Amino acid sequence: MSSRNALSLTRMAVFFVAFGILCVIGCAQTQTADNRTTSESALFQLREMDMHLHAGMERPVPLDEWVELAAADGRKALLLLDHIELYRKTQAEYEAWAGENGFPLWYPVGSAGHKALMADFDRVAKKRKSDLLIFKGWEIDSRELDGDLETEPMRMADVLGWHISPNNGGEAPDGQLLIKRAKQLKALQKRFPVPMILCHPFSMRIENIVNTAQKQGRDISTITVQEYRFFQPGEQAQLAEILRGTSIYVEINRAYEGCWKNPVVREAFIADIRPLAEAGVQFTIGTDHHGLREARLPFHPEEYCGELGVTPENANGIIRDLLLKR
Ligand SMILES: [Zn+2]
Ligand SMILES: [Zn+2]
Repeated sequence: MSSRNALSLTRMAVFFVAFGILCVIGCAQTQTADNRTTSESALFQLREMDMHLHAGMERPVPLDEWVELAAADGRKALLLLDHIELYRKTQAEYEAWAGENGFPLWYPVGSAGHKALMADFDRVAKKRKSDLLIFKGWEIDSRELDGDLETEPMRMADVLGWHISPNNGGEAPDGQLLIKRAKQLKALQKRFPVPMILCHPFSMRIENIVNTAQKQGRDISTITVQEYRFFQPGEQAQLAEILRGTSIYVEINRAYEGCWKNPVVREAFIADIRPLAEAGVQFTIGTDHHGLREARLPFHPEEYCGELGVTPENANGIIRDLLLKR
């Protein structure tokens, strides 16, 4: 057994002991608001979790209102995050960008912005602690793993999410890329021991393939399952070997809702994702909501997660992991 596996087992044991204690406290009816949140969160249903909710500079409404919209649709566990690169703008760039997009200037740029954002997330987490379990993090372009990382704000996060780009105009994301990123995250966790998410890899491949076909003037209904398929033979087993027993998760996000309506994409998704779940890879559920329109539409990840083999037991792994760190 590797030391990593031994560590995971120890942490799981700690969780079960802690959870047992919480149940006892609950039965004795001396439960505090914090304990109630923790014990109920032991198994969130899929639609009760959103581990990818943009809640920073691109937010359309004040934070409390934004969080309430998610809660009103049934969310109980949230990972609030923002794109880290937005804070690299100069003040003039920021003001021009916010003006163009109609965003208020919610936070300053630079390190003052990192601090203000995380303080705001902490504030709302405290305010809603009786009914919501709220974590905070960043979404970082995974291409930054190939260069220098901006480490100071990364240390403020409970979770680091890694954006897999569709890479339109270039090679579509595929099994080799995901294997490379998974290895990079595993190495990075030695310096940043927090749960990490490989964000939306599968839908980004679809976007690239469809985009390329459209550019070529090709009828997209002629794209085959094989072209959409993310993995080559053997790659799923390789990825599962890297990810099993770690706190690195693969995201299933709301973009899959649209993909699911296309039977060809659906077949590719099932062939790509289900064997990973069966091999012990853990997933997270996220909306990737940025705007009001989608935030007002009911979220039903169970409609596609069932056939993908992604269960509440599987998708609660990240919550267990995070609660152990509290
Ligand atoms: Zn993203
Ligand atoms: Zn995102």
